[in-house]
Amino acid sequence: MWRFLSSLFNRKQNPSEGAPITTISEGNERSKTNMKNIVLFGPPGAGKGTQAEILKQKYQLVHISTGDVFRYNIKNATELGTLAKSYMDKGHLVPDTVTIDMLKAEVEKNPQANGFIFDGFPRTAAQAEALSHLMDDMNSQINAMVALEVDDEILVGRLLERGKVSGRADDANEAVIRERIAEYYRKTDILKEYYQNQNKYHGVDGVGSIEDITERLSKVIDKL
Ligand code: ADP
Repeated sequence: MWRFLSSLFNRKQNPSEGAPITTISEGNERSKTNMKNIVLFGPPGAGKGTQAEILKQKYQLVHISTGDVFRYNIKNATELGTLAKSYMDKGHLVPDTVTIDMLKAEVEKNPQANGFIFDGFPRTAAQAEALSHLMDDMNSQINAMVALEVDDEILVGRLLERGKVSGRADDANEAVIRERIAEYYRKTDILKEYYQNQNKYHGVDGVGSIEDITERLSKVIDKL
């Protein structure tokens, strides 16, 4: 199954676990300083997608949302979509192997990017390690994790509201919403510490108007 899925991403199989991925582009001479790569972080419903859409225009960055890529695959009934759906419908994370390969493929589609906004990735320690290696291979780095901080009960309310209009199955059911938040605390929340240890973590209050929150995020990004 994994072998088949990997072939979907149009890239060579790595001969061994943890081997460097294929070079992003030949003659890549970008230095470590001229790309801005941001991890937009926060629990489900924190507003990552909304803010990423604004920030990608403002800073001319490529926005990669793993949730959006999974939903695109579900809509198009691909093998990857069918697999992802079986986890997403329960509020669980899609396995790391699948998600990491997919993310790499998305990055490789944009060899000329000024930088990336990663939205919904990384969500586990293994994904954070994989992202770090991917950046190394591009002679680049993650500059910052910018986190939207929002209380759990506000999140549940926001997601239930979104569910009325989004058509997203995982927003329609309160039990699934609560399971996504629980999954966040089980597997994802620890990444705060991972980036804090690298002095890259920046928490931002995620409650307020969209414009105010964009401004708070921009204050952090402008200094990078
Ligand atoms: P939200 O943050 O609002 O829950 P997303 O659109 O980011 O929504 O993700 C929806 C679902 O897609 C997640 O609940 C999970 O099942 C899956 N998913 C997205 N990103 C990842 C990831 N990095 N690793 C594993 N699963 C993921």
